[in-house]
Amino acid sequence: MNREPLQTPPRIAPLAKLPLFHALHDRRVLVAGDTDGARWKAELLSAAGAQVLVLAGEAPQRERWEGLTASPVDGPVLLEARDWTTEDFDGLALAIADLEPAEGEAFAAAARAAHVPVNVVDKPALCDFQIGSIVNRSPVVIGISTDGAAPMLGQSIRSRIEAVLPPGLAGWAAAASRWRERLKRKVPDGKARRRFWERFTAAAWNAPEHAPVESDFSELLNDTGETGGSVTMVGAGPGDPELLTLKAVRALQTASVILYDDLVAPEVLELARREARRVSVGKRGRGPSVGQDVIDAELVRLARAGERVVRLKGGDPLVFGRATEELDACRAAGVPVTIVPGITATQGAAAALGFSLTERVHARRVQFVTGHGMSGTLPEDLDWRAIADPHATTAVYMPRATLAEFASRAIAAGLDPLTPALAVASATLPQQADVRCSLASLPQMAAKLPEGAPVLVVIGQVARENGAAALGDVA
Ligand code: SAH
Repeated sequence: MNREPLQTPPRIAPLAKLPLFHALHDRRVLVAGDTDGARWKAELLSAAGAQVLVLAGEAPQRERWEGLTASPVDGPVLLEARDWTTEDFDGLALAIADLEPAEGEAFAAAARAAHVPVNVVDKPALCDFQIGSIVNRSPVVIGISTDGAAPMLGQSIRSRIEAVLPPGLAGWAAAASRWRERLKRKVPDGKARRRFWERFTAAAWNAPEHAPVESDFSELLNDTGETGGSVTMVGAGPGDPELLTLKAVRALQTASVILYDDLVAPEVLELARREARRVSVGKRGRGPSVGQDVIDAELVRLARAGERVVRLKGGDPLVFGRATEELDACRAAGVPVTIVPGITATQGAAAALGFSLTERVHARRVQFVTGHGMSGTLPEDLDWRAIADPHATTAVYMPRATLAEFASRAIAAGLDPLTPALAVASATLPQQADVRCSLASLPQMAAKLPEGAPVLVVIGQVARENGAAALGDVA
């Protein structure tokens, strides 16, 4: 036999630890110690279906172990008020201890003598295995290890994975295990089965929150066309990528094509799947822009070609985002379309500048209006009586070109020229800038804001400087 070392380069770089997934159902395991860490390990082992014996010393803190009794789904947990002995290791699948150092060492030695894999909490040298951070979409289970080098980093990796893995994937994986045998009987051809699982996987990512039902099985079985395309309309928020929703991040991570507006910050696009094609359909101000009808048609064409399209819009897609046209086009073409809301510019601006949009006494109403009508001028049909309401907060989107006219019409309709007002450019982004003054001087002040930046105007008592103190009361 040829015992020469392998000449080909290794297929995998060195591994600090090999991840293994331990089948613990109905296996006996031991947890020694009376600590919160021990309790957590007992919970984990029980969740994995093990029969857990807890040896918590002669005087365990009973409250600590409350609620950890047998339940129908998890493995049973038995608590005994005594110390461990060498006999306890007989026939165990695993042993875990959270004990004083000297005792931990003795525990590890006894476990090894009994050939039981052992873990002593926080003592890597005494551990045959480690339990990393876990992302639980059971039957999909992800374990993360940093080999003890950086537990906090491990936790943060876990949060990031949590954020991009829809909880509904668990349901899809469970359905796969229910359907596997049935599929083998119905579809003897291996290649055809593979195509089924490709369609299954595409469907899972397309609608992860849909809990698969039996009719999905037959649909996937009979569906041989190149479907699976969809459109997800996603709110990108006002700019700061941290303000995206978890759903938005997941949609970006599973997209195959992203059609995005000019307003979408590059930082947001960075969160998208690397392989996703990014198409700018910017429609801001001057410069070439893609017509709405072209965007509508492109959404439908891409989805029909089987793409997972994300239509990414600044702020909330349903606020001054011309969403209706795109939704109608998709629905008319039978393209499945879902909507992920976002934080609209007004909310982002209020949070970034630190003021409330409503107040019990001074701002009983919030209204979003646009300063940009169909023809680019001030819309003819704005409700000036509503805008002149001194108890309203009015947020004006796309205000720049028409601000002077807007202010004088509002004043003419009865709004006090001294009403507080503000204009904020690029709210929530590092380059955010704002001006605060009276409504009468706002057009002049707002002109100082950087050219080309998106600007939002807020008019009403909430825009005053110094908050409640300025009014001499607390609203
Ligand atoms: N759907 C978006 C609005 C699109 S209309 C939303 O919900 O926010 C485009 C206008 O939104 C811009 O002209 C500006 O008035 C406002 N806007 C969007 N993002 C902004 C930001 N970061 N700072 C200030 N204004 C913003």
